[in-house]
Parts: sequence; C-alpha cells; structure tokens
Amino acid sequence: MDEIRAGEHVFDFEFHKGGNNHGYSYFAVNVKNHRWPDLPKKYEYKLERLDAIKHETREILERWAWDDTQEQWWDWATDYAQQLHLGKVYSTGRSSGWLILHEYTLDAVRYLGDSYESSCKHCDNGWTEHAKGQCLFLPTRFLSCEESSLESLKTLQLFAKNIRESADYAPKDYLVNLRSRIDDAWADYQAAKKGKSDGVRSANSATT
Ligand SMILES: [Zn+2]
Repeated sequence: MDEIRAGEHVFDFEFHKGGNNHGYSYFAVNVKNHRWPDLPKKYEYKLERLDAIKHETREILERWAWDDTQEQWWDWATDYAQQLHLGKVYSTGRSSGWLILHEYTLDAVRYLGDSYESSCKHCDNGWTEHAKGQCLFLPTRFLSCEESSLESLKTLQLFAKNIRESADYAPKDYLVNLRSRIDDAWADYQAAKKGKSDGVRSANSATT
C-alpha cells in the first residue's frame, strides 16, 4: 500500500510493476481469488461419470470454465475502466493476479495529489501552509484550484473498490460457467448414448 495525499484527503492505493516496462509501478488492484465454492453434488456426480468415461474430462471442463470466467471478467473490467475514462487495463503478476492501469504510474498518481495540494484559489501557498493557517485570504481554509486532480483520485478509489468486489464474485461466476460446461458435456454424452442404443435397436430390427 502506498499513501497518496491530496491536502486533507488520504488515499491508500496499491502499485505493481508490470506491463511492457517493468521499471514502472502502475496503479494496481489485487484480483486474486482465494475462496472457491463447492460444486453441487449433482454436478460433482456428472463430472465424475464424464471423467470416468473419458479421461481428463474434468481438467478440460474446469479449464474451459475458468477461461470463460477470465474472459468475461476482463471484458467487463476493460469496459468499466473506459466508462470511468481511466484508459486501458492490463493483467500482470503470477496467474494474472493483478490488474494495472497503464496511464496511472505511481509518479502520475502522486502528481495528482501534489498538484491538488500545491494550488490555492486565493493565494500562492499550498495546502501545508494553509494547514498552518497561512492563507492571506482565508486564514485556515484551503481551496484547491485543482479540483479535477482530487476527482481523479476519487475515481481511482471507486474503481479499485468495485474491481476488488467484482473479483470476489469471480468464483461464483466460475461455478455457473462450470455447471453450464458440465450440462453441455452431459447432454452430448446422453445424446451419444441414445444414438448408440437407437443404432443397436435399428440393427436388431433389421435382422428380424
Ligand atoms: Zn490560499
């Protein structure tokens, strides 16, 4: 966690090295998932049957469901960042456990706080001087003329909060995707079985 100050406002943000330029730290959100819900018994049974019929079915279906989940989630996160005008998102870190915003390096975010702090609508003194009661016009009241810097920091804060909350839902989305993958595979298996028994029946009727 890095503390970003903008006058009396304090933000706890995370930064992570990544992207094409590993020398830079970017505004980051931890999107790792830790708790995984259990598959309902009915689905566990189907998955076991399918896996017994064809080896590695479990791994394949689980991987597909995970890929589906990742794709959907990153599409959403990309759209959400665009909606807030935060530019492009990238994944970085081991197993893509971090989301980073390429337009927001640690220096760029610090600059937002600094520009807010250093500009007063009424005088040349920054926030620190105002905190000491040194504004010529309003002795204790600091009014930054860089309100947009503070707005940007608040937007980053909102983005981080919603991204993190949404990442916490990913395991549930994964379960939904896995169930749908199992249902499809199960339907294929049932259809194949029926096709086979129909085939046997018609073969039998042909001989009688
Ligand atoms: Zn002032």
